[in-house]
Amino acid sequence: MASTNNQNPRPERRRKGRSPAVTVFATIGKVFGTLLLIGIITSVILCCFAANYIRTVIIPQAHLEANFVMNQTSTIYYKDSATGQYVEHLALHGSENRKLVELSQIPKSLQQATVAIEDENFYSHNGVSWKRTLKGVLLMFTGGDIQGGSTITQQLIKNVTQYDDVTVKRKILEIFTALDFDSTYSKDQILEWYLNYIYLGDGCYGVATAAENYFGKDVSELTLAESASLISITNNPTIYGPNSTVRMTNEDGVVTTGRERNKQRQELVLWKMWDLGMISEAEYRSAVAEELDFVREQDEKKPSIIYNWYDEQVISDVIDDLKEKYGYSDQIAEDMVLSGGLKIYACVDQEVQSAVETVYYDRSNLNLVSKSGQEIQSAIVVLDPEGNVVGLAGALGEKEGNRLLNMASGTYRQPGSSIKPLAVYAPALEYGVITPASSFDDYPVQVLGSSAWPANSYLHYKGLINLAPAIAVSSNPVAVRTLQQLGVETSFQFMQENLHIDLVEELTVNGEVKNDYGASQLALGGLTKGVSVMDMAAAYSVFPRDGLYVEPKTYTKVTREVDGVEEVLLDNTANEPEVALSTKTSWYVNELLKGVVNGKYSGATGTAAQLSGMTVAGKTGSTNTNNDRWFVGYTPYYTAAVWVGYKNPERIYYSNGNPAVTLWRKVMAPIHEGLENKGFTKPGGTTTVQICQDSGLRATEACAADPRGSRVISVTMFADDVPAESCALHKEVEVCTASPVVGSDGEAISGLYHLAGEFCPREANEALGITEGTVKTIGILDYSRESVGGATARDSNYLYSFLEAQGTCTTHTTAPVAPPAEYDPNSFDRNDPSTWPTQEQWPGFDPADETTYPDYNLPPVTTPTPGVETTPSVLEPTPPPTPIPTATPTEEPYVPADG
Ligand SMILES: [Zn+2]
Ligand SMILES: [Zn+2]
Repeated sequence: MASTNNQNPRPERRRKGRSPAVTVFATIGKVFGTLLLIGIITSVILCCFAANYIRTVIIPQAHLEANFVMNQTSTIYYKDSATGQYVEHLALHGSENRKLVELSQIPKSLQQATVAIEDENFYSHNGVSWKRTLKGVLLMFTGGDIQGGSTITQQLIKNVTQYDDVTVKRKILEIFTALDFDSTYSKDQILEWYLNYIYLGDGCYGVATAAENYFGKDVSELTLAESASLISITNNPTIYGPNSTVRMTNEDGVVTTGRERNKQRQELVLWKMWDLGMISEAEYRSAVAEELDFVREQDEKKPSIIYNWYDEQVISDVIDDLKEKYGYSDQIAEDMVLSGGLKIYACVDQEVQSAVETVYYDRSNLNLVSKSGQEIQSAIVVLDPEGNVVGLAGALGEKEGNRLLNMASGTYRQPGSSIKPLAVYAPALEYGVITPASSFDDYPVQVLGSSAWPANSYLHYKGLINLAPAIAVSSNPVAVRTLQQLGVETSFQFMQENLHIDLVEELTVNGEVKNDYGASQLALGGLTKGVSVMDMAAAYSVFPRDGLYVEPKTYTKVTREVDGVEEVLLDNTANEPEVALSTKTSWYVNELLKGVVNGKYSGATGTAAQLSGMTVAGKTGSTNTNNDRWFVGYTPYYTAAVWVGYKNPERIYYSNGNPAVTLWRKVMAPIHEGLENKGFTKPGGTTTVQICQDSGLRATEACAADPRGSRVISVTMFADDVPAESCALHKEVEVCTASPVVGSDGEAISGLYHLAGEFCPREANEALGITEGTVKTIGILDYSRESVGGATARDSNYLYSFLEAQGTCTTHTTAPVAPPAEYDPNSFDRNDPSTWPTQEQWPGFDPADETTYPDYNLPPVTTPTPGVETTPSVLEPTPPPTPIPTATPTEEPYVPADG
């Protein structure tokens, strides 16, 4: 589309005209002159400082290594576990939106157009145009564009380095780097790089990509008119891009389209070329008249190769590391990886990655849809003991493209309870704040708002509880209480420095200042920013690694062949492990987190992660909104972190337990098949002691006599962690088993009886007709708990204060009375009334009626022998004496039944 109002104009050399303003300037010339003089003097002084600054700060940094050799296929290798050899895995190609060309393929007209409009003295200056720089500096001081006055070399430096900041130092550094660069590389080389890196709108970097995009042809086929049009874009693609949708209104009130503005600038470029003598007037006229034939926006083609999640992670890690180590821009780092002939040695384990893909590419493994219609998402990272990322998936379902949102490393979500071992228990054990013997009250800590806080996912409070079951069921109050003892600052610091989890010190969100210093954040996992799946896997892998932190890596090194020599660009092999925890604490944590999975504790949250014949430890996590579900679990072989949630956080409704545990197990089960269960490292020097699970101190007989059953547990720990004191919480009291305590529901409370009163029998007493004593000694918790928000704990009926309030035995309220002795009819003597029975002893006895006499039916007494049975009256035949098996002496020694 050619411009209509300016066809074939006669090019005019532009000259400065006289303006009436000149006379005004003349009158204020003196004032201006004085100011200028002051300015110059000030400048001289400043220059002295500047010279020193440039010599010491700028010059040492002013160097750019042009590692960006292109047009070679890069290759990812992985180690074959069978042979230990690296084998070629994947050849990388630049995306279809990125084409790199050599200068020889770029038409002369485009090269000239570039020089004409961007940097007409390109071939004669030494990287910097002093005249233009001075103009730029003046513009800067008058509030103008600091970026003005850049040469092609300077623009290239700016394009290939990642710093976008606009500062004076940056500008100065750019100038000196340009001087250095210009003396290192040829003009042609610089122009070639420049034309391959400039941004030309529509997502196109480089002239070859842009030529395809706008004109549908190879860059070498561009006409003069097209070249001028193309190079016009780079000044500001939003304004001069032919496909720009921005409408601008000029001074005359005329609205212009991107295409019209591109045409105007194209004519300016052509005029410049003519002005500089690069083209003839005829060429100028013909080019201005040429109708530009733009290809309308092409449909975005799908890339022909879809990388798997692992390869994408390797690519992005190498890009990030190249940027960090060499200071390259995104674009140049990406080009190096995709077409810089690099050899990338990846850490992937094909068996693990294949297990991950089998599960993650198949949505039927977790098929949930949110209320708003989102499909459920998940991500997983699997690490080996060396810190290699051996398997990874960044989303759930068939992978349908490249550069999709990778939720394994690129998103941050709330960890919920899965933060507890990291931010609370590991540091508390490490700093000696708690031991595996410790117990806490699973009871609210405070009233928050109007309710008791924190609540538990199991909707009740258990009361006094040992650490291991508290972790297994994921008690929130216990985590908060432990954090309170540890200290929020210590926890924060441990997370950042030892486990390398980035927390927020201060962040303003919707005008509210937030940070991660608090119990909700550190004990319950409601972080300001959240954590990535990769970070969680790395932090948990410290436990099975006996306390060593290793930064997770997806590649060992990246090399490039230069003149037949393999040159290392990036090297991860020398990453030294850092001590994050002692081996002792690691072992403690391993034991505690085994309890989440192994089924030892009822209500444990991770039992669905059990693998047959393999030791598994881990921790679940969920947030109170149920937007995020986690399981980070490990075996002696692998650590895997799994997150489940929706891309835009939304409540997960899932009735089969924790979906993260389900996916974790589906991936981990096949990769552990046939592996020997070697367990975690158990350090020497441990001892097993009997501990009261309510007090956390050494168990006494009272602890064993708790009405709920013995509260004594065996805890294996290091000698110096064994508590010296014995439980003082369990108090021995006497209760009467004849008087059960009835709870508010009308049911007898199991094992609980009223306190024995003075009349409760302590032992059998034949005389008093008591067959057995009903008084028993039990151990009851002498623990007082201050009510928080009226909450009750499951052990509240077993506290002494409760028992005491029930009063004493309701059965034995009076002194026992001896029952009347039974009347012996043989003692009856008709002649001695003192031997006669009372009416109670012999109802119906009437001294006047012989038939009522007790001896009336008795046979005549022969010789009554005391101590010998007088009845039965009929002699039975005596059985032949048989040898009675007396209290059989056995071979085994006597063992007391309560031993
Ligand atoms: Zn006790
Ligand atoms: Zn009693």
